[in-house]
Amino acid sequence: MTNLPEPARGGGKNYDAAIIGGGPAGASCAVWLARLGFSPVLIEGRDVLGGLCRSNPFLDEWNASLPGMTGPQVADNLALSVERAGVAVRLSCVVERVEAAGQGFIVTGSGLAEPLRARHLVLATGVRARSLAVPADCAAPLQWPEGILTGPGEHIVAQDFRGKRVAVLGGGDNAFENALYALEKGAQSVQLYARNVRAQRQFVSKLPQACVALGPYAVDPRARTVNGQAYDMIMVFYGWEPCVGFADALGLQRSARGFIATDMRTAQTGCPGVYAIGEVAQRQHPCVVTALADGVTAAKAIQARIEGLPFSV
Ligand SMILES: Cc1cc2nc3c(=O)[nH]c(=O)nc-3n(C[C@H](O)[C@H](O)[C@H](O)COP(=O)(O)OP(=O)(O)OC[C@H]3O[C@@H](n4cnc5c(N)ncnc54)[C@H](O)[C@@H]3O)c2cc1C
Repeated sequence: MTNLPEPARGGGKNYDAAIIGGGPAGASCAVWLARLGFSPVLIEGRDVLGGLCRSNPFLDEWNASLPGMTGPQVADNLALSVERAGVAVRLSCVVERVEAAGQGFIVTGSGLAEPLRARHLVLATGVRARSLAVPADCAAPLQWPEGILTGPGEHIVAQDFRGKRVAVLGGGDNAFENALYALEKGAQSVQLYARNVRAQRQFVSKLPQACVALGPYAVDPRARTVNGQAYDMIMVFYGWEPCVGFADALGLQRSARGFIATDMRTAQTGCPGVYAIGEVAQRQHPCVVTALADGVTAAKAIQARIEGLPFSV
């Protein structure tokens, strides 16, 4: 903990909570805190709120309260709710470091003219798709060659699959769904490589068995080959990892799968005053509705902490 003289850094307003990440989890927490009468600031790296919802070009059929909306429409609604709640928002600000200071926290990053101060910190920065391991003879960060696509989203939808030979790596839902998508969009061939299959039966049963190769495999991203076979595209679906490098100074505990460990009732991490919600913590099945619920949990826990009350749901 750095005990900085109060005005030296992060002068100006001391917010009740700095919420980092403007996806469903962060937006929900900000709206609840503002509506409960507190002063949150919502910090988002992109120039628009909505998080991963913006990468979902399809109908969101998992949100029972918003039938028939696409991901970007759900994202637009989140931004509207934040605006109507009068939340202070900082867009295009990528947080690079957070640290404990005195009774609160200091947030610094690109796009922030000066460090922000807050009594509580809410990490809602979501996940990024895991990519291929960087070859030993390459320095990270590596720019993958054209045709290597990581994770699901709009960049997959933007591809022209017609006549292409496509390899899909991974055995989860995303791998099977996107293999089916490439076939549907006219790929010449699709071969899915998986060490084991974890996907739902509804996806696995639709993909012809001849398209699935089970067991170990070797990838050469620069030659764009899998087991020596050349492909026009290699799509990688290796799951997700939390975006929290900026919070390393807090020494937060991780779960066995690498996500931020939290108290299930309050979303508080092992560091008092620091909360982790949504996909960065993966406390529940990752989706918009659970991210929204997590936002409420953290907001209510912060309220209880500020008012010195026992936490109750
Ligand atoms: C292709 C696709 C389709 C999906 N379809 C559905 C669906 O139909 N229904 C459903 O319920 N869920 C769906 N999901 C999942 C859903 O989008 C996520 O579960 C949800 O968005 C997670 O919310 P979150 O707030 O935890 O994180 P995110 O939505 O990832 O938001 C995190 C935010 O933090 C920002 N951020 C990250 N690092 C920093 C930093 N250092 N500084 C500042 N800001 C930062 C990011 O820019 C991002 O805006 C889909 C996901 C994908 C990828």
